[in-house]
Amino acid sequence: MENSLKVMRVLGIDIYLHFSWWFVFIILTWSLATGFFPHYYPTLTTQSYWLMGIMSAVLLFVSVLLHELSHSLVARFKKIKVNSITLFFFGGVANISKEDMEPKSEFFMAIAGPLFSLVLAGVFYGLYRWDGNLFVTAITYYLYQLNLILAVFNLVPGYPLDGGRAFRAVLFGYYKDLKKATKIAATGGKFVAAFLFIVGLFSMISGLANGLWFILLGGFLYMIAGASYEQVVIKETLSPIKINNLLEQDFPILSPNIPLQQFIKEYAVLGKRFFLVQNDQFQGVIDIQQTLPVSHKLQKTLTVKDIALSFSRSPSLESKASAYTAFKMFLEQRKEILPVREKKRVIGYITREAVMNRLLAELKFNDPHPIHVVARVHRRR
Ligand SMILES: [Zn+2]
Repeated sequence: MENSLKVMRVLGIDIYLHFSWWFVFIILTWSLATGFFPHYYPTLTTQSYWLMGIMSAVLLFVSVLLHELSHSLVARFKKIKVNSITLFFFGGVANISKEDMEPKSEFFMAIAGPLFSLVLAGVFYGLYRWDGNLFVTAITYYLYQLNLILAVFNLVPGYPLDGGRAFRAVLFGYYKDLKKATKIAATGGKFVAAFLFIVGLFSMISGLANGLWFILLGGFLYMIAGASYEQVVIKETLSPIKINNLLEQDFPILSPNIPLQQFIKEYAVLGKRFFLVQNDQFQGVIDIQQTLPVSHKLQKTLTVKDIALSFSRSPSLESKASAYTAFKMFLEQRKEILPVREKKRVIGYITREAVMNRLLAELKFNDPHPIHVVARVHRRR
């Protein structure tokens, strides 16, 4: 994941910390040491408060890590590969390579994290009751509460929270339709988000400090619930389509050495957007829109080859890949056109436009509310 730092490797899984995590770690330690602990345990020294703050933050990190690891271990047990775990602001994300899994596996995998948090809450509660030392009591009580919150919040049946994933797995098993299951579970997620938002708003009005936190959490959940449903819709729609069906082969061909000025003068008027640029030494493609920002002065000195996308340096797609793979690649690479290869040989080209048009066409016929999805797709470019 971007903006993350690898900090360790546990049971063969790389553990990354997202940069936001450090920020939260500092804020959390600070607020515990100067606010929470002095408020509830006023008899201790400043030094103890800071030590308690740091220890609590570290143990919270360990708790979240164990929560994520328990998801991963169930995945491993079900022979699903876990690449890495990234810990960030609201918890963590386990990067699990297989997305389409059996409903049963997904159910157990989803439920494992909150269950383990529940166990941890029990352990911390036991320690809290067992030791009379104020220092230990304060930390364990705090961790008992947070692990309980982690378990309960994640069990809420709103996709993509753990409870929502488990809920979706049950629905998927029942309806045998991932899109439908995700839609229902994501709607659950939106309801939960709206509920959190309203709770936050009321808390703010009545002057409670937690209000803003609930509003942020609600907003965050609403956003990811919508986005993850759309992702599933796009994936379900494009995955069965092979890019062979979207290939374009008849582009006008240019020599790489044509001056750019001549190209713009003679070819821009043809109404075509892409031109193949090739001879014995060079093979690539030029997008007429790329020439728009080139100044008149530069147009005189450059050739077509200078701004064409060279196929030897361009990322490419395998001819057997699905339109969904192409969709993801266009998003990642920010390209308008990509070469398609079969055994290293370029056999055609696929444009972003062709993939998007196909997606729109499919959605128009398959989904009663395509507009919302489409709007998101465009904004994410
Ligand atoms: Zn979880």
